[in-house]
Amino acid sequence: MASPHARTPLAEQVDELLADGGPLPIVAAGDPVLRRPAEPFDGQLEPALLTRFVQALRLTMHAAPGVGLAAPQVGVGLRIAVVEDPAPVPEEVREARGRVPLPFRVLVNPSYEAVGTGRAAFYEGCLSVPGWQAVVARHAEVRLRALDERGRAVDEVLSGWPARIVQHETDHLEGTLYLDRAEPRSLSSNDAMANRWNQPTPGRAARALGFELP
Ligand code: ZN
Repeated sequence: MASPHARTPLAEQVDELLADGGPLPIVAAGDPVLRRPAEPFDGQLEPALLTRFVQALRLTMHAAPGVGLAAPQVGVGLRIAVVEDPAPVPEEVREARGRVPLPFRVLVNPSYEAVGTGRAAFYEGCLSVPGWQAVVARHAEVRLRALDERGRAVDEVLSGWPARIVQHETDHLEGTLYLDRAEPRSLSSNDAMANRWNQPTPGRAARALGFELP
């Protein structure tokens, strides 16, 4: 029997994706969905489906584990991302990277702009580029504007690691991967990261691998 309300193709796609109930498969680099600007969210998912989708994104982010996940990373071309970072790192890392806890939040139609001219360069990785990390120089401070999952406006200034996470996830919604902004010579396997470049800052890696830091 037909549904009384026409559903959008995106709603059908998300409904199917959620059918299994577990963490969602993460799409890897090479899939065009990661390279297309995502559609602004404008009610394509009804409220109950949006709630279930956000829960699935959060579950998937935790399972990965990661500190952010954008809808295109599960194959859904909508401008929605989740972020959450408990920041379980040593004090010296926290100080060097500004890696302070970022509570769970949903970003709908987010955008950011630089605040000031400061840059911060650190290694980062992406769940859609498994096995590798690279140094990305990003705005040290940004103004984030978005809606939350209930449509309430978000407008705040972030710095440190939360600013990095928000830039990385918002970039996904534009079809941009962190590698597009990375210092190519910094590219390191997870193994190299664990054994060589686990210092709080990438200074030693920059000297050994031959790349510039801002
Ligand atoms: Zn990513």
